[in-house]
Amino acid sequence: KAEGGRGRWARYDPDRAAREATSTALATALPSALGRDEFVVEYQPIVSFGTGEVRAVEALVRWQHPTLGLLAPDQFIGLAEETGLIVRLGQWVLERACVEAGKWHTEFPQARMTVSVNLSARQVSDPEIVDQVAGALEASGLPPDLLQLELTESAVMATGGEPVRALRKLANTGVRLAIDDFGTGYSNLAYLRQLPIHTLKLAGPFVDGMRSHDPAAVVAERIVDALVRLAHALGLSVTAESVETPEQVERLTALGCDSGQGRHFGTPAAPSAITELLRATG
Ligand code: C2E
Ligand code: CA
Ligand code: CA
Repeated sequence: KAEGGRGRWARYDPDRAAREATSTALATALPSALGRDEFVVEYQPIVSFGTGEVRAVEALVRWQHPTLGLLAPDQFIGLAEETGLIVRLGQWVLERACVEAGKWHTEFPQARMTVSVNLSARQVSDPEIVDQVAGALEASGLPPDLLQLELTESAVMATGGEPVRALRKLANTGVRLAIDDFGTGYSNLAYLRQLPIHTLKLAGPFVDGMRSHDPAAVVAERIVDALVRLAHALGLSVTAESVETPEQVERLTALGCDSGQGRHFGTPAAPSAITELLRATG
């Protein structure tokens, strides 16, 4: 289409036309992709700043598309959310991740490796989520405290009128809960205090801001400092996302941040890479 939004006319843009063709193709293929077994889960190390050890991994879904190649979640998660497929896809990721982590736990029990799984708002507001989590744990043999569930602030709010009660039921299965992308959404601090959560994941942009030596970096660092203090005052641990440089590790460690993930430590990888890592360090 050559028509721009809101009554304006845009010049024909071949890149945009290609993007639209791709998104139409994805929308058509997505509903049956699960049945065709086209999704894969990669795992990104989360490293403890105190010990330098990998204590956890985050499960991140990818779509191995037959012609378009390996697609990042940004290209299909939104679509899966709109169509409701995210509920089945999310459950599949949860089960897959628990099976993988169950194997790591069997082979390297002393590592006590946690797997962290993203839950979308639609999954969190589905009353069956508690049974699904319990079922995934039972089927895999993974101890509940080795599963962490990541919810964004908006996913917490999507639990309807009573997020505290909904999350309490989830927490009662023994799993850990983390607030993902903390600081980017609507944070109700009074609420936060009541939620049965264990960890705050500090959104990438704050960590990105700590990279340079310009005045903006000072502000970013003050924000991170304040968020770490807030988290610790509430008895929560803090994981920094998008850690890309040794300087960031140094600064984050100095501010008391507990753990981090990002390119500096390792990009998301196949489960076999995590097994190798455990073999080398365990
Ligand atoms: P997220 O939960 O914030 O995941 C972290 C994202 O940061 C991942 O992108 C990861 O690959 C990327 N990342 C890792 N290291 C670095 C780094 O050093 N710098 C920067 N700038 N980024 C880094 P990815 O894998 O493309 O996932 C994007 C988002 O898709 C995730 O963001 C999450 O919101 C969503 N997602 C992924 N898997 C699932 C899933 O199974 N279920 C649901 N509901 N959402 C998922
Ligand atoms: Ca996440
Ligand atoms: Ca995140």
